[in-house]
Parts: sequence; C-alpha cells; structure tokens
Amino acid sequence: MDIRSAVSANVSGILCVGLVCLDIVNVCDQYPREDEDVRAAEQRWEKGGNAANSLAVLAQLGVSCDFHGTVGSGPETEFVLSDMKSYGVGIELCVCHEGKKLPTTTAVVSRENGSRTIVHYRDLPELTVDDFKTKISLHHYKWIHFEGRNVIEVQKMIDAIDDHNKLRSDANEKIKVSLELEKSRPELLSLFHRADVVFVSKDFARYQNCQTAHDAVQQLGPKLRCKAKLVIAWGEMGAYAVEKNTTSELGKFLHSPAYPPLVIVDTLAAGDTFNAAVIYSLFNGNSLHDALTFGCQLAGIKCGQQGQRGIVNKMKQSGRENQTNAK
Ligand code: ADP
Repeated sequence: MDIRSAVSANVSGILCVGLVCLDIVNVCDQYPREDEDVRAAEQRWEKGGNAANSLAVLAQLGVSCDFHGTVGSGPETEFVLSDMKSYGVGIELCVCHEGKKLPTTTAVVSRENGSRTIVHYRDLPELTVDDFKTKISLHHYKWIHFEGRNVIEVQKMIDAIDDHNKLRSDANEKIKVSLELEKSRPELLSLFHRADVVFVSKDFARYQNCQTAHDAVQQLGPKLRCKAKLVIAWGEMGAYAVEKNTTSELGKFLHSPAYPPLVIVDTLAAGDTFNAAVIYSLFNGNSLHDALTFGCQLAGIKCGQQGQRGIVNKMKQSGRENQTNAK
C-alpha cells in the first residue's frame, strides 16, 4: 500500500510537536582562543531543532506532516519556516509569539579536530496544552510524535490523545504516540509509559546509568507500557530495540548495525533522521527490526553529506529502496 493512499484526504498523517530553532554554523580552521578575532572559513544558516529535522525527513519520504510548536517573529523565524516549507512540511499550526526571537544555536565547528562548540539562546515561551487543544484537530492525525521537554504540558497533550483514542474502538482510528527522550533531565522519565514508541538517546541512557544499549533495554524496557516499543540509537554501533507484549513480557533484543558512508561528512541531525525513518517504517506497518534497519540506512546516508536535503533520493539511487516504496 502506498503511503499516500494510507491516509485519506482529510487525514494529514503525522504531527511533530517540539522545537525548531535557527542553527548558525561557523566553520573555522581551528577553535579560536578567548578574545581572539578570527575569520570563519564557512558559515551557514540551517533550520535546527529535533522536530524540524525529523519533519524534513518525513516530508522527503512523502508523508503528509505538520509541525506544532512555538516560533517568534523576525528574520530567524521567517528563514526557518520557509526552509521547512520548502521540504513540504506543514507549518500552519505553529504558535507565533510576536516580538520574541526564534531560539538560536550558534556553533563553532573546528576543522582541526571536528569539535563543535555550541551556544544556545532561547527566550521563547514553551507550547501549552491550550495551544494544542486550540490548534490541533486530532482526527487529522494517525501518529503524533513528541519531543521529551515541557513535561507537564506534554502530559496533558497526551491525556487529550488518550481521551480521543478511548472513544474509538477501531485500532486503525487510534492515534499512535511516539516520544523522544534525549536530554539528561530526570523529569523526562515520567513520560516513559505514555507512548507507543519511545526513542531514547545514548545521552539519556547514560544519564540513567546505562553504559550500553543492552543495559538500557534491561533497565528501561520494563517501564514500557504493554505493546510499546523502545528504540535506542547508539551512533556508529547502530541501533537497538525491544517490544513489550500484551502480557507485559519483553520480546527479543533487536539490533541493526550502522551503515556508514564512505566518508563521514556531518553527523548533525543523524538521530533526528533515524527517528523519522523508524516512525515512517512503523507507520507503514513494517516490523520493528525492519524499521531499525531502515533508520540506520537512512541515517548513514545523512552522515555522508552536509544537511538532510536529497537523502531519500540518494537512498533510492543506492538501491536500498524497499521501504521508501511504502508497503
Ligand atoms: P544523535 O545524532 O542523536 O547523537 P546517534 O549518534 O545515536 O544520534 O546516531 C543515530 C543513528 O545515526 C545511529 O543509529 C546510526 O545509524 C547513525 N550514525 C550516527 N553516527 C554514525 C557514524 N559515525 N557512522 C554510521 N552511522 C552513524
């Protein structure tokens, strides 16, 4: 079944709730000393933030998808939203705070050792459950992905989805919820059992005292709700996953190797690319193992180039296109 026929005319498909920001990347021959005046070898503005990056991939995969989150006003916001739009991402559901700046990440990348030093600025209000209830028509979506942040409000948004799902007896009409836990913040764990698919980063796993993906599966897997899936990307080691069955037992520990490109060019947004590819694959009814493999393949292609544009076409050209032609 083609993804476009999987979503009927008034169903948009996937909504991502989270952060977008402007990344200003300065590439320098080496990292400057304090108070030094240096010229960057290269500078680029890019859309940034997990939601923006994952949506750019979903849109390239042909999914009808929307962004829901807060933005400011001014040139940074205009740049990022028009970049997202150019990928085909729906931006009409963002909440605009006039007079506020879009969060900005200023990065100095050293060519000498590849280090990336980042200064993040944000004064933008977080999204609220009232924004969510005002802007979002839940019956438009089959899948809603949340970034793990702003926990109290996100909990209430998931409550609204649970209420929506309770009124639907047909499993196909229920909205699936996925959640990314990336930052090392203790309160994020309270969201863990609220999602059908939980993505955990290496950083979050380590923060939970898990030194390996296997530790993370053993320690965090039991916290899943029944029939939920845990997915853990682990850089060049690839990715791992486990699923809980209806009787609360954990299934087989699954693994996909990484698919490194010939030359690693840029790993920024590899994780967001991986998450989007896994969501896409599961959304299309593929197995968890196939979804892991697809995620690692597409993330590998991303690592071989700057930015994310064109990665799905590259995958098709490389012959790994089984899943880009949705079942
Ligand atoms: P993040 O970008 O959030 O730090 P990871 O580093 O865990 O995420 O990477 C996500 C996925 O991207 C990995 O599961 C892997 O498939 C791919 N990936 C990341 N770094 C590399 C690499 N150096 N070589 C090959 N694949 C990579």
